[in-house]
Amino acid sequence: MALRLFNTLTQRVEEFAPLENQSVRMYTCGPTVYHYVHIGNFRTFIFQDILRRYLLYKGYKLNHVMNITDVEDKIITAAAEQGLEIGEYTKTYTEAFLEDMEALRIQRPDLMPRATDHIPEMVELIQRLSGQGLTYEREGSIYFRIDRFPGYGKLSGIDPKELTAGGRQNADEYSKENPRDFVLWKAPKPGEAYWDSDLGPGRPGWHLECSSMSMKYLGESFDIHCGGVDLIFPHHENEIAQSEGATGNPFVKYWIHGAHLIVEGEKMSKSRGNFYTLRDLLEKGYSPLSIRYLLSSVRYRTQLNFTLEGLGQATSAVARANNFLQKTREIPADRPADDRVQEQIREAREGFEKGLDNDLNTAEALGALFTLIRRANPLLEEASVGAGQKHEILELFSAANQVFDVFEVEGNQLEDERVQELINQREDARRRRDYTRADEIRDQLAGQGIALEDTREGTRWKRSN
Ligand code: AMP
Ligand code: ZN
Repeated sequence: MALRLFNTLTQRVEEFAPLENQSVRMYTCGPTVYHYVHIGNFRTFIFQDILRRYLLYKGYKLNHVMNITDVEDKIITAAAEQGLEIGEYTKTYTEAFLEDMEALRIQRPDLMPRATDHIPEMVELIQRLSGQGLTYEREGSIYFRIDRFPGYGKLSGIDPKELTAGGRQNADEYSKENPRDFVLWKAPKPGEAYWDSDLGPGRPGWHLECSSMSMKYLGESFDIHCGGVDLIFPHHENEIAQSEGATGNPFVKYWIHGAHLIVEGEKMSKSRGNFYTLRDLLEKGYSPLSIRYLLSSVRYRTQLNFTLEGLGQATSAVARANNFLQKTREIPADRPADDRVQEQIREAREGFEKGLDNDLNTAEALGALFTLIRRANPLLEEASVGAGQKHEILELFSAANQVFDVFEVEGNQLEDERVQELINQREDARRRRDYTRADEIRDQLAGQGIALEDTREGTRWKRSN
């Protein structure tokens, strides 16, 4: 079956077919490294990782580029306040981002270019646009003239006539509603960091970097471009204007956008106090894999309402699956097969792929695996799952891991230190009378084959396998 995806450009679910044979070229907008990335951002990066991994699962060759935005207003201001060079300031957060990605098992894209390493390419792109009469200059800044680009608005559905009336915008990405002619090259304010170029001193606008780096590494036309929904306008609309304005070729075939993560019905933001980074959640004792599971368990086009309760349920779901896999691994080699399980495994595999083919419906795909767990568990208990099926089940979950990467298929043993750490966290939770959390930790350990025994001297543990 073919993969189908919702294309923002056509507003339809379309069958995916790469521009060239079996090779896919994909660009995903990366983080702005002025602070730790929050888990809303990671929801988007995980959806992109699921897409990336499913393309590989289906046998496509992939060239995936993700940029690092390491120059923009907030970075410049924050670096100046701390008396640091821009590069010194962004290094901390770029490294933190890479570490968090690894903890969440987000695969590294093939290339992660930084904006500041591509200033000459961006200057050149502006010169090309100027050659086409698509720019104008005011007080040292250069703007894109959107009324000269006839396709403006085709991605977002915005009517350019309503935008052009009021002039130009010198703002950077953090005024994301930027309604008018947008800046390509920003003249420096007094005291601000800048680059010297044939265009005069200044720095590139945010939209420009993605046009420039995506085309440099993936060509003038490529297959997939992703981001969160907030990037549709103006960021991606402007990318199309810049790229197609310069080359005259269609820029991207499939535009794929992920819905936001919200917290208790509200946008996640620092001022509301509902802002979590990955680090905040790890400090509370949650595991990166529970977080990965939660963020990938809702289909990318549906808003995800984040709650700690939901994260607790995700922890238990992963533990339930790992318990099941643990019991499956224990099936003895001489146990005969049973037809019922055979059918259940076949349906689970079919449901898993059907779900992902269906516009990456991760909920449907995971649902198929959990249906197998629910149906096969009683059969496991009554010793009706045979040795042959043991391998098929483990094989199915290892295939599922190529995409989700949250299941313990091999039965990797938890390090003793990590077990003790979790037991300590459970004791803390019990002291706080947070029994839900305490039970989650016990379940999580049980899922790894660790049995706990509470004695008067404290909690003892042993491996049951
Ligand atoms: P930024 O660093 O702000 O450019 O954001 C990085 C990525 O995270 C972009 O693809 C955004 O669309 C996405 N994003 C921002 N906020 C959220 C959110 N609350 N939920 C999901 N994705 C988000
Ligand atoms: Zn971008």
